[in-house]
Amino acid sequence: MNLSNPRAAILNMGRDGARALRVALAFALPQRCALCMRMCGDACLCDLCADAIAPAAPACPRCAVPSPAGAVCGRCLAHPPAFDAALAAGLYAFPLDRLVMRLKYAADLPLAAALGALLARAAVAAGAPGRVDALVAMPLAAARQRARGCNQAREIAKALARASGLPIARGLLRIKAGAPQAALPWRERVRNVRGAFAASRAFDGMRVALVDDVMTTGATASAAAAALRRAGAAHVEAWVVARTPAP
Ligand SMILES: [Zn+2]
Ligand SMILES: [Zn+2]
Repeated sequence: MNLSNPRAAILNMGRDGARALRVALAFALPQRCALCMRMCGDACLCDLCADAIAPAAPACPRCAVPSPAGAVCGRCLAHPPAFDAALAAGLYAFPLDRLVMRLKYAADLPLAAALGALLARAAVAAGAPGRVDALVAMPLAAARQRARGCNQAREIAKALARASGLPIARGLLRIKAGAPQAALPWRERVRNVRGAFAASRAFDGMRVALVDDVMTTGATASAAAAALRRAGAAHVEAWVVARTPAP
């Protein structure tokens, strides 16, 4: 790098090099808590704020919405999703909603790591890591990933892998972009993600956890889980940072 002209040096690095530098700096500098702004080392979320976020309890074991006595909820009984179980670090409500929104619209990698660590903590508390062999990050369509610069689900999965020791399995692809689910009424979301996913490898007999930032209707996770099952997966769970309560 030409240090006499740092601006030219950064321009010459190209997009990937500049991104690597941005990531290195983001992790190297001391972080302020994303919620309360206290200095908190390299964590991005201080212990106090992290402790204020907890999974809904009791919750439906199938889709992680609040459910009396932890019973399977009415929606899962009427329309069972293609995944076997779900787990969320917390409900999609203040303050977790702010953090997830911030991650969605800015490639904030230290924040992704903090949210992955939160999800890991919830997974360990639920004894969930022992139920799966690998993590699968919810894929984005290629064009959307290029536009956004990163896949936030993959960044969360990487932090989760570091904290849980579970490997990340590649090979689930998003082959149809569709409209952003958030832009659609709940009823249309199932149709929007139909045929959206395919596996590029066999998942024969594997037990996997699909990792994503938010689960709203569960339609996307169910479509992705169905693709993993077609590729041979024996057990699929949906692990998300934030779960939207049922409407
Ligand atoms: Zn804090
Ligand atoms: Zn349910």
